[in-house]
Amino acid sequence: VIEVEAAGRTSNRADKIIYTTKEAELLGIKSIYPPPEPEKCKFCGKTLYYEGVYLCGMIVTWRTNIPERCNCEKAKLYWKRQEQMEIQKKNAEKAKEDKNKIDLLIQKSGIPKRYLGKTFEAYEQIPESKRAYAQAKYYADNFKKFAENGNGLYLEGTYGTGKTHFAIAIALQLLNQGISVTFRTAVEMFEDIKAAYDGQSDYSEVDKLSVYKKTPLLIIDDLGKEQCTEWSVSILNSILNERYVSMLPTIITTNYNESDLINKLTPRNGDSSNIRAIISRSHECNTVITMAWEDYRGKKMERLKVEI
Ligand SMILES: [Zn+2]
Repeated sequence: VIEVEAAGRTSNRADKIIYTTKEAELLGIKSIYPPPEPEKCKFCGKTLYYEGVYLCGMIVTWRTNIPERCNCEKAKLYWKRQEQMEIQKKNAEKAKEDKNKIDLLIQKSGIPKRYLGKTFEAYEQIPESKRAYAQAKYYADNFKKFAENGNGLYLEGTYGTGKTHFAIAIALQLLNQGISVTFRTAVEMFEDIKAAYDGQSDYSEVDKLSVYKKTPLLIIDDLGKEQCTEWSVSILNSILNERYVSMLPTIITTNYNESDLINKLTPRNGDSSNIRAIISRSHECNTVITMAWEDYRGKKMERLKVEI
């Protein structure tokens, strides 16, 4: 939009595309639509003319919603405020839009509603957890750098130490930055893929697998709890291998140490070399956080019992 100021320039029509109704009248420029009546500035009373767009020798349209802006001090202040309000409105709309986007990402992540409060702030620290907490928080705070190298986390340890809590806390921090995360327990993930495999899902097995293979961050919670078969090990291998070669990070939590997890995931009478390779690679390309101490929830319950 070219603003019209000096009346002297109006004679040079070539570089002007905006004319007020007054200028058009003075210069005898024809317009397709009749010009709107001028208005008075509500602050100083000056006559304000409407502006038209000049094209191919005539005014093709009038900007009909408001006349030209007055240049008196009060009007200037009024328009400055209007513009500020417009910016505030746009910012509020943007914030709302961002929030909706994040809500949708959280919804799509698969994090159960009950876990949505499991932030870093909500984690009850004990002296034994300090190191693990710092490692998990460091990972979340530096995710982009880790993700670039395909580095994930491997959270192993005893029951009730908060491995899932840390995985969720990381996920929530990233989701709030607009990063897409897929969270599943190992049981859920295999069931989900199996349903597609058995034709009981709207998605094909390949589509389902590709969700787990391609999500920017995959969190597999509680690995080793599921009933393992040759099929589930080959699925796990295929997902983790694809993510490894594509350098996409994965977070795994498990209640088992390395040798117990290998036993747990070796199919009955089966070969453990596949699962050995999977777990050894998981240790190699992920930061391993070991969380092995007494269950603090259990401890707290006991303390409460004593107090009662
Ligand atoms: Zn005015």
